[in-house]
Amino acid sequence: MKDLYPLGETPPTGRVPERMIAATIRRERFGEPKDAMIVEEVPTPPVGPGQVLVWVMAAGVNYNMVWASLGRPVDVIAMNRRAGSTEDLHVGGSDGAGIVWAVGSRVRGTKVGDEVILTVSQWDERSDDVRLGTDGTCSRSTRVWGYETSHGSLAQFAVVDDYQVHPKPAALSWEDAGCFSLTAGTAYRQLCGWHPHTVSPGDPVLIWGGAGGLGSMAIQIVNQLGGVPVAVVSDGKKAEHCRSAGAHATIDRQVFQHWGPMPPGDTPKDLRQWQVGVRRFQQAFWEVLGERRSPRIVLEHPGSATLPTSIAVCDLGGMVVTCGATSGYHADLDLRFLWMRQIRLQGSHMANTRQFRSVIALAGRGSLDVCRTGTYSLAESSTAHQLLREGAQMGNLAIRVNAPAA
Ligand code: NDP
Repeated sequence: MKDLYPLGETPPTGRVPERMIAATIRRERFGEPKDAMIVEEVPTPPVGPGQVLVWVMAAGVNYNMVWASLGRPVDVIAMNRRAGSTEDLHVGGSDGAGIVWAVGSRVRGTKVGDEVILTVSQWDERSDDVRLGTDGTCSRSTRVWGYETSHGSLAQFAVVDDYQVHPKPAALSWEDAGCFSLTAGTAYRQLCGWHPHTVSPGDPVLIWGGAGGLGSMAIQIVNQLGGVPVAVVSDGKKAEHCRSAGAHATIDRQVFQHWGPMPPGDTPKDLRQWQVGVRRFQQAFWEVLGERRSPRIVLEHPGSATLPTSIAVCDLGGMVVTCGATSGYHADLDLRFLWMRQIRLQGSHMANTRQFRSVIALAGRGSLDVCRTGTYSLAESSTAHQLLREGAQMGNLAIRVNAPAA
């Protein structure tokens, strides 16, 4: 019996080889994804109680692997070892799709042979807070699969908890099914998860990075809910992408120069310039919207470069909801805006099972285009993640793992 199957070969059903091929990171290679990620043979992870082993057909490309490659803001390998992992490597990948290959004891809701989509949020279903009704993503046991765990989807086999697998809609190809759940689920929770600040018909919504993974999903979800998505971009091609995804309008951020932290109040000239910049941005929003209304919801993720503007332009009683900090995680906040305008600043992270099922259903019936703009082989994982790191891609990218080339 073989203990490793090369890419392109499938083991007999039910046979779990001892070793597998995976895209990995090791500490000695921490740096840009193009240098940090390589493909190598590693042991196949064991399947514990409540867990499912999946033969991965395709995986998504997302920022978790960028941060993991860089080794900052945290060294994921050291962090996961402190949490009990015995691995001195990291197999990333936080979403994907594949075939259930083996199940551990006490697994419910799925069986060997099922075609499934894998989602990122992991928690301990037996933890006290979850048993008392806490949303799993807010549990003290919550972990980001493929980032805060050592084995994600960028490998022939992935191991997940049983609630992380969802039936794959037949209408989706493996590549489409594997590339969107993380960005779509996160955007959905940002836009629908924070009552009463959920998108209502007619609500203007400002979406940073409209052409990116989160942004492309957010534009469509806002439209589904009857809101008016206005997307920020940095060039004409990205503006076109947003419009084809359904953006009401776009704003080119390159026309403005006030980004980053607010100048301190003791340099009135600089502060004044910053205020003029923000005001011009706000006017641009009103102009492209076609009416003098400010965004009721601002979908944030660039972080330090944009948060001061997000707070300054958000409507009275509105919400700035953030899930990331691509440009830096120390951001300036003028508290006067928060209390005078009664703005809610909300953190949002991944999605819960119901929210993931909602975006999978939308994609399955064709109401959400997964916006897959590129597909790469497992060996090209480093190239695909480097594109993401440089903001050079649009929409979502897929990694074809075991799926045959189309
Ligand atoms: P993408 O690269 O696909 O999109 C991000 C977009 O942000 C880019 O297209 C770019 O658009 C824009 N952007 C980049 N830098 C800046 C800046 N300085 N100012 C304004 N806009 C900027 O990434 P994703 O959409 O996949 O992810 C975005 C962020 O969200 C990442 O930091 C990621 O870690 C985080 N995230 C968090 C999740 C969570 O659950 N907590 C889940 C998913 C993502 P343009 O240049 O056109 O303006």
